[in-house]
Amino acid sequence: MRDYNQHYINGSWKTPFSSLSCDVINPANEEVAGRIILANEQDVNRAVESAKAAFTSYSISTVAERVEILQAIVTAYSKRIDDVAMAITEEMGAPYTTLSQPMQAQAGLGHFVTMIEAIQAFPFEQEVPNSQGQMNRIVRESVGVCALITPWNWPVNQIACKVAPALAAGCTMVLKPSEIAPFSAHVFAEIIAEAGLPKGVFNLIDGSGAEAGATLTAHPDIDMISFTGSTRAGIAIGHVAAEGIKGLALELGGKSANVLLDDCDFPSQVTGGVLMMMHNTGQTCTAPSRMLVPRDKLAEVEELAKAACKQIVLGDPMDPETTVGPLSSPVQFDKVKKLIQVGIDEGAKLITGGVERPTDLAKGCFVQPTVFSNVNNDMTVAREEIFGPVLCILPYDDEADAIKIANDTVYGLAASVSSGDPERARKVGRQLRAGQVKINGASGDYSLPFGGYKQSGIGREWGSWGLEEFLEVKALIG
Ligand code: NDP
Repeated sequence: MRDYNQHYINGSWKTPFSSLSCDVINPANEEVAGRIILANEQDVNRAVESAKAAFTSYSISTVAERVEILQAIVTAYSKRIDDVAMAITEEMGAPYTTLSQPMQAQAGLGHFVTMIEAIQAFPFEQEVPNSQGQMNRIVRESVGVCALITPWNWPVNQIACKVAPALAAGCTMVLKPSEIAPFSAHVFAEIIAEAGLPKGVFNLIDGSGAEAGATLTAHPDIDMISFTGSTRAGIAIGHVAAEGIKGLALELGGKSANVLLDDCDFPSQVTGGVLMMMHNTGQTCTAPSRMLVPRDKLAEVEELAKAACKQIVLGDPMDPETTVGPLSSPVQFDKVKKLIQVGIDEGAKLITGGVERPTDLAKGCFVQPTVFSNVNNDMTVAREEIFGPVLCILPYDDEADAIKIANDTVYGLAASVSSGDPERARKVGRQLRAGQVKINGASGDYSLPFGGYKQSGIGREWGSWGLEEFLEVKALIG
């Protein structure tokens, strides 16, 4: 049982003014795994004051000093990687051996390592001579005091995607993680404490989105908001940012198309696509949730998809054999089950899975990996971000039809294209309205930009692209 009854403010753990506690549920057994204290307005104000006071000196720190800080975090984080992973498993159910340790926890570390490279190569100051021979300068400076709001699906990855560039840019910050998955954020704050950052540069509060999140983002001393989560909350935060003319970076939902062209290697691409969809129990914003296949290949793809689902080991996240764990919370469990039922009611063809609880799992937020085929792009299951292990297979008539269906969504976060001819796949990829397109199952790279078109967000994270979000541009003339 984790009793996290303090917030990290101004370089030490402080007892909150609020006494309102909130239980954190382990979704694998639906038992209380720990407790946090939800911040009230006074707690938010204290955290912002601390970040504001630290800004004056931290914003003028040198690149070398910031590299030293990032390096100290990498060292401290490396020692605590198993603790980070265990916290993630307990709070949101990611399988420890196959996911939270080798991927979720490592991803957080990876973003800090990448940021050290990015900041050293970044042009913080450029000389620009004018035609009269006068030397002017373009200076990139920290945007200010930042509110960082993160969700529960890749909790530490998303914290690192914000904290690493904010520190690299010379910003100070208040982090509010999801109340559903706050454990790993506390371990992360312990890592920050161990790394010995200047007081007040990093502050952590627990709290609900509606209260602490809303108070924090609207605070007049917050200059920039970086948010990852639902499009619904992103819109609400966008309004708040507009009211205060604050900087804004949004990383929101997705309904990513996985276009399998007629000359691709179907056995490997269907299997890879299904397993990628079910990974993290379908709770990844870039999950390839719409698999687009040539109409005459539909029957073959259905068989391959069914066989791929049989490879999944669903169950206890602490069992080293488990590849897919429970959904993150009872709320997400109810939402996903409802949407599977909607798919059945709308007439999508159920290939495997369904609303029934997996027979051998009497407790926990477990749903069966589910595949629908012959899905029409107008169906709810093809349009809404389900955020669960639910794949939709949609038939298309020709390449132009595939591109049209892929782009027929309010989202534009990611996409995948497969073909025997990578150049053909890239040509299709260029026509997809998405911020990241993977060709033939290529793996990602933390130095590349990550973010969405359309309602999937504003701005980019990762590497130097993420760093730019936390910088202002100044013309220093003469
Ligand atoms: P939210 O977007 O509500 O939560 C994400 C974070 O935002 C949490 O820290 C939350 O706090 C906070 N938050 C919520 N509302 C506000 C607000 N008005 N002001 C400031 N902060 C706020 O996601 P949900 O947990 O409600 O999940 C709902 C759906 O969102 C999922 O089913 C999924 O489809 C999508 N989602 C997408 C993600 C992505 O990466 N694209 C990530 C997570 C969810 P708290 O949790 O304490 O309320």
